[in-house]
Amino acid sequence: MSGQTINGKEIVATIRAEIKKEVDGLIAQDLRPGLAVILVGDDPASAVYVRNKAKACEDAGIYSEVHRLPDSTSEAEVLQLLDKLNRDERIHGILVQLPLPKHINEVSVIDAISVDKDVDCFHPVNVGNLMIGKGDVLPCTPAGIIEVLKRIGAQIAGKHAVVIGRSNIVGKPLALLLLRENATVTVCHSKTPNIKEIARQADILAVAIGRGRMVNRDYVKPGAIVIDVGMNRMEDGKLAGDVDFDDVLQVAGQVTPVPGCVGPMTITMLLRNTVNSAKKAWRIPVGS
Ligand code: NAP
Repeated sequence: MSGQTINGKEIVATIRAEIKKEVDGLIAQDLRPGLAVILVGDDPASAVYVRNKAKACEDAGIYSEVHRLPDSTSEAEVLQLLDKLNRDERIHGILVQLPLPKHINEVSVIDAISVDKDVDCFHPVNVGNLMIGKGDVLPCTPAGIIEVLKRIGAQIAGKHAVVIGRSNIVGKPLALLLLRENATVTVCHSKTPNIKEIARQADILAVAIGRGRMVNRDYVKPGAIVIDVGMNRMEDGKLAGDVDFDDVLQVAGQVTPVPGCVGPMTITMLLRNTVNSAKKAWRIPVGS
């Protein structure tokens, strides 16, 4: 048996076209959503992510500005910039690219982003709202994964979803969103014994561990849907997921490719969150 590769590019293109249409409609009313991105330091991977985000905004018609700050920038300077952006009416979403240089406290910086402009859903108030099912801003990578599952017509309710990884930005919020969709959810991490046995019970297996190609067919139930969040630069310079794609495809029903699915979906959800945040600021009902 051989599974199917989930066509992430097509899903991304479809949703981005929907977002562009929505933005075009807003621009016709002289309203333009805006995103500000702050990048501190010269981490090459972060620079690529920020470039991709700015390009995606431009393609969708969303105003964007990137604040590239040197590594020597103080925490006070970042907080000062955030204060300015929080009050800037052109800006509806603010994203601070992580990781920050070690001398800057990530928690203090995230706390300083206006709750209404926190399009990453990292602010503790938004995380709390997510926990109690009240939030209307959803974290980008987990929200993108749920969207992929829905777009491929996967049934989530009543299914057993296993999430490997429990980070604050992927594993934990993904588990919450899967619960919200009425899956039965198991979360595994580095201290979980028998991960293979647990993973093999999954109808939906999501992997976010940062270990290149670690998850092979031994972790996968025949026919399962496998979502690979990992983005790892391998020794040969190639980008690989946390899933051994070719091996898992022999057993799984459907598998997301890396690159080409969860990464661009994450940016797509950022665009959506920015548009929704702008609509809320203009008191336009979200979803209209
Ligand atoms: P992270 O903060 O490093 O967390 C990794 C998680 O995986 C931890 O919970 C850790 O367990 C668990 N883990 C590590 N090794 C394990 C093992 N051998 N067996 C079981 N669990 C293990 O990573 P992250 O930020 O969630 O990112 C995970 C991956 O996704 C990375 O490759 C990252 O680049 C990628 N990513 C991609 C996107 C995207 O847009 N495509 C977005 C975010 C992240 P403990 O908690 O016990 O340490």
